[in-house]
Amino acid sequence: MFPPIAWIAAAFAAGIALGRWSVLSAWIWFAASTGSVLAAAWCVNLRRPATVPLLAGAATVGALWVMLHADPVAAPVLTAAFGRDVTLAGVVVRPPQRGSERVRAVVSVEHIDSAGRSSPADGLVLVTFPQSSDVLYGDRIAISGRLVRPPPAGNPGEFSYRDYLASRGIGAVLYPQRHAHVHVIEHGLATPILAAADIVRRRMTSFLLTALPGQRGALMASLLLGDDGAIGPEARDDFARSGLLHVLVVSGAQVGLVLASVLWLGRLLRVPLLPASGVAAAVTLFFALMTGWVPSVARAAMMALIGLAAPLLQRGRDAHAALAVAALALLVSQPLLLFDAGFQLSFAATWGLIFIAPVLTLHLSALPRSLRSLFAMTVAAQIAVGPLLAYHFLQISVVGLAANLIVIPLVALLVPAGFAVAVVGAVIPTLGVSLAPVLGPPADAVRWTAAVFARLPLSAVPVEAPSLLGIAGFYAVLVATVEWLRGRVRVTRAAIVAAVSGAVALALWAQVFAATVPPQLVITFLDVGQGDSIVVQAPSGRTMLVDGGGEVEGHLTGYDVGARRLVPALRRLHLRTIDIMLLSHPHEDHVGGLIAALQNFPVGLVLDSGFEHPAPSYPRFLRLVEAQQIPYRLARRGQRLDLGDGAAAAVLNPRDPLIVGSSSDVHANSVVARLAYGATSVLLTGDIEALTEAILLGDGTDLHSTVLKVAHHGSATSSTPVFLDAVAPQVAVISVGAMNPFGHPHRATLEALQAVGAAVYRTDVHGAVTVASDGVQVWVRTVRDAGDR
Ligand SMILES: [Zn+2]
Repeated sequence: MFPPIAWIAAAFAAGIALGRWSVLSAWIWFAASTGSVLAAAWCVNLRRPATVPLLAGAATVGALWVMLHADPVAAPVLTAAFGRDVTLAGVVVRPPQRGSERVRAVVSVEHIDSAGRSSPADGLVLVTFPQSSDVLYGDRIAISGRLVRPPPAGNPGEFSYRDYLASRGIGAVLYPQRHAHVHVIEHGLATPILAAADIVRRRMTSFLLTALPGQRGALMASLLLGDDGAIGPEARDDFARSGLLHVLVVSGAQVGLVLASVLWLGRLLRVPLLPASGVAAAVTLFFALMTGWVPSVARAAMMALIGLAAPLLQRGRDAHAALAVAALALLVSQPLLLFDAGFQLSFAATWGLIFIAPVLTLHLSALPRSLRSLFAMTVAAQIAVGPLLAYHFLQISVVGLAANLIVIPLVALLVPAGFAVAVVGAVIPTLGVSLAPVLGPPADAVRWTAAVFARLPLSAVPVEAPSLLGIAGFYAVLVATVEWLRGRVRVTRAAIVAAVSGAVALALWAQVFAATVPPQLVITFLDVGQGDSIVVQAPSGRTMLVDGGGEVEGHLTGYDVGARRLVPALRRLHLRTIDIMLLSHPHEDHVGGLIAALQNFPVGLVLDSGFEHPAPSYPRFLRLVEAQQIPYRLARRGQRLDLGDGAAAAVLNPRDPLIVGSSSDVHANSVVARLAYGATSVLLTGDIEALTEAILLGDGTDLHSTVLKVAHHGSATSSTPVFLDAVAPQVAVISVGAMNPFGHPHRATLEALQAVGAAVYRTDVHGAVTVASDGVQVWVRTVRDAGDR
């Protein structure tokens, strides 16, 4: 079915996943891989098939490989300086990437000044410069700023910036101070071929942006060279919603078209095969370097080279083998790429083209010949990437297929024509400028298609993240179906009966298994940076969301915590409705994210302290609640919120009249609720401070709780020792952002929590903290260990 190398590559990839997720030590994988290789040798010696030990060997070597290569080792002098202001000196070792707001450059550090000490250092650091700086590839520079370890995923299934940078060999990020000056010490330390590629790319980009003003040039620079700095957020959103985002990144299609154009030119000029292939290989490689050797381009370039070499080596072309070799080469060079969305999508789409598309073409005889392969290829790629898109982006564009059917022929036209014009323009600008307008109409058509389809009702349909088992099952069924369509697999009645009864048995067992698991109350303290957001999933299936995170007032940047972190996290928790939305108090870091939650989920009831405070999102929140006609109630002491099946929350604060004249009235009137299930309970405290704690203690309220959400992000103004004594929590959760400007959590609070014997969990250290209760005891799960903060 597939060539042996494809099975080896698949086993190696599976091994990487195993090595990353299992807790086994590298020694065990080392022993297992040695054993597998010995077993394979023994089988070969006995002339027995060695398939099983070979595949086991590939998998165990993959597991070992990822353990040895995963985390880029930054010099201890760099790790010791995390969180500090430092001055770095080093060389820009990759062409800087221009984004829409900042320029990103990878600097190989040579020297660091930190805490008054100057020491030699090594390792790759990502430096983000303001858009205006003109740092070039190959410059030796010195720059000051805050050195940080890139943040890992905070919530289950979330994108990990740390892993993403690690897969590119980068272990630290430097954020320069505002108005920081970059000292360029020396120019020209670049590798000549990369420097040439960078110069050509920059010339072509600046030509495209000037010759084609507005969105046309931005689209062409993005489509041809992956330079997406000029694409606005609105256009990007349109392309994403219409399933056309791949148009904005350089992918295999561009590489293929570059290669095909060179070969076509070679045939036209009657150049013999060997030199023509050589030139084509050189141009392809140069183009891949120009566009930054991103995974999709590296994949396509490697496959192109294998394809060019095959006839010269008198080997048959086998696209599956070429795809597998490219995957193996990339994964050996950097195993963490396996978890990169770009890597996965590129390989899946290509696999769809070579495995599914030919079968579809055969079965589309009703279509005119010219449309058949276009349709087959578009459908095949969409099918192959579908589950991955759902997993990574939690949305599927149903109209994407139609949008792609229109856009792909336009892209096939724009890419060669665009390159021809850009090459001419980079050499003879005046001639280029007069040719450029021919690109206008097709470029506009692509942009319009994205804009129109993005506004159709079935663009960007939100979906729940499929499970890994579900994804594996999808591909298994897909392979079986394609093999059946190809006539390779004969479907007998016995096979159908076996498959159907197997599926039924599995479903029944799943039901039985689910019934044996006792119902649980699950509370997830999400990682929303500095702020609070707590999801309650009751045994009855009813849900409550307490606060939504948000930005910190006085430090607003426009980052939408709700849309970017909260809503995806809720979807990954399989939330469909929010029965009760509780806002503890209207500070931005509690209310901001609720806007996106209201826009994305049906809400049954909104509860609010009703204390008026001019946080930017609060009036918007109230307007949205009113516009959506959601029942709205003031939360007041004495109310009981029933979550069904024995789980209920009692509101303990605020009371009428509201507290006035405290150090912070908005904090003092936070909603406090005690959520009880069986013998276990969780005290939710918003941002109350010492005064409210004293009032609650004074009237003899039962505060005793298994789990405490520590008030006000662990600030020293809350969590007085008498209050903690009364609560006597086994587990304390502090929702707090890493390196927040307030110094939360305070050391005194941490010590006080320790003094009452609570196990302390922090969202800045552990990521999201999940507490599950069966009514008798509680279990705590975190996204990260404290060790890998
Ligand atoms: Zn707060």
